[in-house]
Amino acid sequence: CGIVAYVGSRQAHEIIIKGLKRLEYRGYDSAGIALLNGGLNVYKKKGKVSELETHLKNKNLNSHIGIGHTRWATHGEPNDCNAHPHYSASGKLAIIHNGIIENYSALKQDLLRKGHTFLSDTDTEVFIHFIEDIKENENCSLEEAVRLALTKVIGAYAIVIMSLEDPDLLVAARKGSPLVVGVGRGEYFLASDATPIVEYTNEVIYLNDQEIVVIRDGKLSITNTANLPLTPYIQTVDLEL
Ligand code: GLU
Repeated sequence: CGIVAYVGSRQAHEIIIKGLKRLEYRGYDSAGIALLNGGLNVYKKKGKVSELETHLKNKNLNSHIGIGHTRWATHGEPNDCNAHPHYSASGKLAIIHNGIIENYSALKQDLLRKGHTFLSDTDTEVFIHFIEDIKENENCSLEEAVRLALTKVIGAYAIVIMSLEDPDLLVAARKGSPLVVGVGRGEYFLASDATPIVEYTNEVIYLNDQEIVVIRDGKLSITNTANLPLTPYIQTVDLEL
């Protein structure tokens, strides 16, 4: 289970695939990536990152933003459908998630009653449908919908979300599962640990539990689930690869 996300001027898929390989030691059963290449497109495959790479061959992957994931199945068998990223109901949001949403079943029942349909058996797909449902009901920003959702979910998570409507936005958060932000020059990286990041920048922010990071138009801000703005603490790491 690993997370890698990127926004900046490089090719997102190159950084994400390489980063997922660096996280292979964490173990996983499937891998996937979402890019903004003409639409919000998700590519995912059961098996190794190399199988995802084969699946990506000859596709136009040109995108400056993307999220990628290696999954360790907890809810739903390891297969292509249950691999991450997962879409929201409208298909305009995509999420990657490490961890477990313990109250996903109650949330899913509510959403099913509202007419939602699900493509996978995962807790993660419920999570992103739930976030979008809040966004629509409250008519609020994505980051506010994420914050409200996090006050209602029980469990552990590291998440990163991207949006078709906001091509320069990544929203990420964690509780219980690790998440590190790499701060480059006009570019940002997110990963489960610093190994996918250190070849590009040695400036990192280790997120604390209940923190939400918003990267919008090249600027980063951090708040917590109580909606308090926080000052990012940037550390310099010195990792040998
Ligand atoms: N609970 C999620 C799933 O089963 C995420 C698992 C993970 O951490 O990779 O898809």
